[in-house]
Order: sequence, then C-alpha cells, then structure tokens
Amino acid sequence: MEFGWTDEQQRWWDDVVAFARRELNDALVARDRDATFPVENWKQCADFGIQGSFIPEAYGGRGLDMLTTIHLLEGLGYGCEDNGLTLALNGQMWSVQEPLLRFGTEAQKQKYLTGLCAGDMFGAHGMTEPESGSDAYSLQTQAERRDGGYVLNGQKTLVGLAPVASIALVFAKTNPAAGRWGISAFIIEAGTPGFTVSPPKDKMGLRTVPLGDLFLEDCFIPEENRLGPEGAGASIFNSAMEWERSFIFASHVGAMARQLEKTIAYACQREQYGQPIGKFQSVSNRIANMKVRLETARHFLYKAAWLLDNDQPAMMEAAMAKLVLSEAFVESSLDAIRLHGGKGYLADCGVERELRDAVGGVIYSGTSDIQRNLIAGLLGL
Ligand SMILES: Cc1cc2nc3c(=O)[nH]c(=O)nc-3n(C[C@H](O)[C@H](O)[C@H](O)COP(=O)(O)OP(=O)(O)OC[C@H]3O[C@@H](n4cnc5c(N)ncnc54)[C@H](O)[C@@H]3O)c2cc1C
Repeated sequence: MEFGWTDEQQRWWDDVVAFARRELNDALVARDRDATFPVENWKQCADFGIQGSFIPEAYGGRGLDMLTTIHLLEGLGYGCEDNGLTLALNGQMWSVQEPLLRFGTEAQKQKYLTGLCAGDMFGAHGMTEPESGSDAYSLQTQAERRDGGYVLNGQKTLVGLAPVASIALVFAKTNPAAGRWGISAFIIEAGTPGFTVSPPKDKMGLRTVPLGDLFLEDCFIPEENRLGPEGAGASIFNSAMEWERSFIFASHVGAMARQLEKTIAYACQREQYGQPIGKFQSVSNRIANMKVRLETARHFLYKAAWLLDNDQPAMMEAAMAKLVLSEAFVESSLDAIRLHGGKGYLADCGVERELRDAVGGVIYSGTSDIQRNLIAGLLGL
C-alpha cells in the first residue's frame, strides 16, 4: 500500500491550485448572488485539462489514471472557491463523459468526448423526473421505436447544466413491460426538434451553475444516438452512479481543506477574553473534528479511486464515499460558520456560501438515505 503522491501528481496539484487561485475566484460573491454561470472559466478549465483529465488522448483528453485525476480535482477544489463550477465539472465528467467513454461507439466518442474535453460543449445527465427521484427506475419518459430511431416523450427535472446543455444523456423506457431492463440511454443534441430546456431554476446553493428541466415532445432520436444496447439503460446508469458517487465530491474535499485552513487562521487571529479563540477547548475540538472529517473523506475518496484504477468493483465504496463526503462537507461548513461567529454569517466572508453549496450534496446522486439503503442491500439486508 502506498500513501504518498509521485512528483508528477504533486506537480498537477501545485499547478491546478495556482491556476484556480489566479483565474477562477473573481467576483464570486456577486456571481453567487446573481447566479452567473462563468462560461469563460469553464473553457479555461478545459484548456488546463480538467474535463479531459481521465479521458484518453485519442478523444482530446490527458489520459491520467484515476488517483492522479482525483488529486487534480481535489487541488481544483482547494484553489477554486466556486463550488458550483467544480460540481458542474465533476457532474459532467462522471455522469456524462465516463459513460460515453465506457459504453459509446467510436463515432460517439469522437463526436462528443472531444467537444466536452475541449470545453466547447456542456453535457447534462437526465434521469430524475417530476414523479421519480430516489425510485429512479419508475421513470415515465418513453422512447417508441420508429424507422431508424426512436420518438421520445417525457420530462427530466433538477438536471445540472440543463439550461445550457449542448448534449443530454437521457434515460427512457423502450419496453415498459420489462421494468428496469426495458430502459435505454440516449444522447440528445441541443437543437433537435422536440427537445427544449427550461430557464435556470433559482436555488439555495451552487448558484453559479444552472440547473433546470429537459422537455421531450415527439423528439426523434436516430438509432446511432442510443448509448449502448437497447435495454442497457439501467446498467449504464448504475455504472455511471458508481463513478459519480465515488468522485463527484473530489473537489469538495479540496474545499474542505481550504475551509479548515481558513478556520484555523481565524481561530489563531481572533481574540476574545484576552486570548485567541483557538485556545478555548470547545473551539479547538470543533477544528479537530473538521480535520478528522477531512482525512476520513480523503481515505474514502482515494480507496474508491484505487479500486476503479485497478478494475475492481466499487459499488459499496462508492455509496460509502458519497454518504461520508457529503455529510462531512455539510457538518464542517456549519462548524466553519460557528467558529467565524457573526462574521461567518455574512456573504463577504464566504463560509456561509460553502454551507449553502454543501447541502445539495446530501440529495444529488442519491440521498443519504438511499446510500444507506444501498450499503445495507450490499450487506445482504
Ligand atoms: C443540486 C442538485 C443537482 C442535481 N442534479 C441532477 C442531475 O444532474 N440529473 C438528475 O437526473 N438529477 C439531478 N438531481 C436530482 C436528484 O438526483 C434527486 O433530487 C434525488 O435523487 C432525490 O429525488 P427526489 O428529489 O425526487 O426526492 P424523493 O425521492 O422524493 O425523496 C424525498 C425524501 O424521501 C426519502 N426517501 C425516498 N425513498 C426512500 C427510501 N426508499 N428509503 C429511505 N428514504 C427514502 C429521500 O431520502 C428524501 O429524504 C439533482 C438534485 C440536486 C439537489
């Protein structure tokens, strides 16, 4: 077992932290308030190699292994204070690019992965519907076979990047009688007749990334835009969730490290009763808890990366990582506010934004309840 980083991995970390600090944090309080999506930053991230980090060079990526990719994404979150941007990048990478890479035809990979890696495209993942969330396979969107393709009807909701999507990976029933084995996955391009998107929804956190609905009305999708075989939608979704749950918090772990450093600095500098507040045990205990959460989160993240790098199943580890990391980010964000006192409650300080950004994490990619159900199911319960 090896717990260190190689020189190359460390170089990626140093470079991405410097890049993120220099380019990605401008006017963040205003961007968060106005819900402005930083399109330019998206492109800069692509030029740096974020979106393409784990994608083979043949499709415009850097071809990094998973541990290096995760280290890079953690560094991104450490340097970049825009958690909306880092979440959207991770969302596209794990729930759109990874399934395209794993299940796509050569033509699909050439057509879509290159554009996604280059930052010229935004990829959305549409599973959730108004009547199906946790119970994802009870979806209602239908895809009826027609000559040369399928006609899709339905609605997807709460979809990250939906309002700006260049492509959407959408799941629909091709054989309703077959339950989850009658679901198929489709790649839908913006501009396809019958495919529309909602404006961005107003929301609590992650406000710099747009989230909305996808509408499909008699939308014809050619057969070549089906991802994987007909009926493979549930398997593709499961595989995508294994990767997404493992890694979607990679940058938020970096954010937790940044948050901890900021909180320690404040606890050393702020004085009450004639001494730094960090000297009060109830304050230092909270900071110790933040450190333990951060290191626990890192262990779960790196273990999942190691397993997937070594082609080993990680369903259980993915569910545990998602559960632990998302809950840790909420708890530590709340602790950071408590420790900053009244200042922490003000927008300028930045720690209140982190709490609002963190809360969504206990819902997307399956709620904490659903992760516990998955873990229990894998334990045979
Ligand atoms: C910021 C954000 C980004 C998102 N991005 C996307 C996206 O890009 N694409 C996409 O398709 N979806 C996305 N979602 C949707 C997300 O995946 C769903 O909101 C989530 O799966 C929960 O579904 P629901 O909202 O319908 O809640 P419900 O399923 O209605 O759940 C409501 C409550 O009931 C509990 N519950 C439900 N069933 C069970 C059970 N069996 N056991 C115990 N408790 C249960 C849940 O834990 C929850 O507390 C996003 C959501 C958010 C908040």
